[in-house]
Amino acid sequence: MTVHSNHKDDFDKAPRSSYFHLPPLDVSVAFPQATPGSTFPPCTSDYFLFDDLLTPEEQAVRLRVRECMEKEVAPIMTKYWEKAEFPFEVVPKLSALRVAGGTIKGYGCPGHSIIGNAIATAEVARVDASCSTFILVHSSLAMLTIALCGSEEQKQKYLPSLAQFKTIACWALTEPDYGSDASALKTTATKVKGGWILEGQKRWIGNSTFADVLVIFARNTTTNEINGYIVKKDAPGLTVTKIENKIGLRIVQNGDILLQKVFVPDEDRIPGVNSFHDTNKVLAVSRVMVAWQPIGISMGVYDMCHRYLKERKQFGAPLAAFQLNQQKLVQMLGNVQAMFLVGWRLCKLYESGKMTPGQASLGKSWITLRARETVSLGRELLGGNGILADFLVAKAFCDLEPIYTYEGTYDINSLVTGREITGLSSLRPPTLSKRSRL
Ligand SMILES: Cc1cc2nc3c(=O)[nH]c(=O)nc-3n(C[C@H](O)[C@H](O)[C@H](O)COP(=O)(O)OP(=O)(O)OC[C@H]3O[C@@H](n4cnc5c(N)ncnc54)[C@H](O)[C@@H]3O)c2cc1C
Repeated sequence: MTVHSNHKDDFDKAPRSSYFHLPPLDVSVAFPQATPGSTFPPCTSDYFLFDDLLTPEEQAVRLRVRECMEKEVAPIMTKYWEKAEFPFEVVPKLSALRVAGGTIKGYGCPGHSIIGNAIATAEVARVDASCSTFILVHSSLAMLTIALCGSEEQKQKYLPSLAQFKTIACWALTEPDYGSDASALKTTATKVKGGWILEGQKRWIGNSTFADVLVIFARNTTTNEINGYIVKKDAPGLTVTKIENKIGLRIVQNGDILLQKVFVPDEDRIPGVNSFHDTNKVLAVSRVMVAWQPIGISMGVYDMCHRYLKERKQFGAPLAAFQLNQQKLVQMLGNVQAMFLVGWRLCKLYESGKMTPGQASLGKSWITLRARETVSLGRELLGGNGILADFLVAKAFCDLEPIYTYEGTYDINSLVTGREITGLSSLRPPTLSKRSRL
């Protein structure tokens, strides 16, 4: 084989066709037979009339969020997803929806019921999962940590502006060497006069590249326990860089955080976080909310497929007329009904104070598993357009993958439930025994 060293140069200089640099056709011109996701399909997935399970207030939240997401957000999200950029233009619209601070009462927060908060999460995720992750990190992780574990002064100082998205928060637990094993994290907090010095590294932290308030978990070098701290944007010694090349939740800005001798004054240590157990209290609630993301994603994918199969014709008939396609659609619809009921029951258990960590973990893991099946059926149903973000399903398919992994992977959540139902933990491998002499 002959290898020409200047082959690339030759190729670059080769004459191109006159249309080589033309922009792509608008998708509605390129594929007129079906409506793209920018015109969002009506909700057709409420087959078992879940609205009956909601209070009038919860129904109103649902409609308000749905209308905003369908009309204002759906038309622009593919563009941002493709560029992996955050749509700051959406933030005022989310602020008007009053979704930040979810269930928190007072401090300018909406004080929704947990179901109201869950249904809002699902309605946002139905149209765009990245948008719902942005809100969850800000609200159900960072704001909730301050609300559940912060001092009165911290709540008054931080929550009102966070509730209006005037300031944005992130929540940093994961480290490069400690993902599932987060309780072993190594970032340190050392007591000095008037405050603390934080030293270490965080990874995967959503919203961190532009967050004003960073909730950071670090190991107290005196007690060896995990403590929580509020670090402000641009604190000396703090550096955040964006993680590039994600295949899911591309709109969410995940960052690598470097903490090099970052000083945190005493008033910004979160007094109620004194061990990993306290962090887990927040995670138990946020896990319930995260479980509603795959429910919303699956609803949107079902809605999209339902419309697409009726619009798109092959062999002289709508795709919806073929038995195999109907079976897939029905399987997806069944999944949505079951997922909704599990999510709803989880909320009710939480509301009554009966929910256990194992139940929250089972809810998150099982719902995500069913959602994975649902979106992959949806991807098949759309044929080639099932790999185009313009028709929603491909975007949702990719966005589900990180959700399957964060807030405890499917495996870790299964093991948490397994530990609860058997009384035996299999999270750590058995101690490696010495090699047998035999
Ligand atoms: C898009 C995205 C956003 C995120 N946002 C945040 C954020 O805002 N804040 C934050 O703190 N973190 C965030 N995370 C981190 C997330 O919580 C971790 O990715 C997750 O906990 C898994 O950790 P890991 O990626 O290190 O995987 P690992 O822990 O390395 O796991 C790799 C695989 O091994 C399996 N495994 C690990 N341990 C066991 C075990 N004991 N038994 C059986 N199987 C096991 C896992 O299930 C998984 O399949 C985010 C992650 C992503 C991808």
